[in-house]
Amino acid sequence: MAEATKLMVWIDQDLCTGDGICEEIAPDVFHGRDDGLWVVKEEASIFGKSIIFDGEAAPDGARGVARVPDDQVDIVVEAAEECPGECIMIEPYDEAIVADRGV
Ligand code: SF4
Repeated sequence: MAEATKLMVWIDQDLCTGDGICEEIAPDVFHGRDDGLWVVKEEASIFGKSIIFDGEAAPDGARGVARVPDDQVDIVVEAAEECPGECIMIEPYDEAIVADRGV
């Protein structure tokens, strides 16, 4: 289980084109919502609790920031580079952001 993570990621849904490339590249981190837009998630197998930042159980957009598993940094960066909407935002890990998510 990942106890530390260096990066976090979120998606600006206003720019998402809904093609799903991100989930094809990194299925543990990206998740397709019912409305055809993509959001980020944390898997219980990695972080001990499953959270989908879909705007329902957890916030989406800039407040729906998921921790990136350390061993998946490369594919998350690849997904951001391949994202046609240029809407995958990667940030340094910040404990205050995790506290602000409210989940
Ligand atoms: S790759 Fe980018 S534009 Fe495509 S679904 Fe994922 S976040 Fe949306």
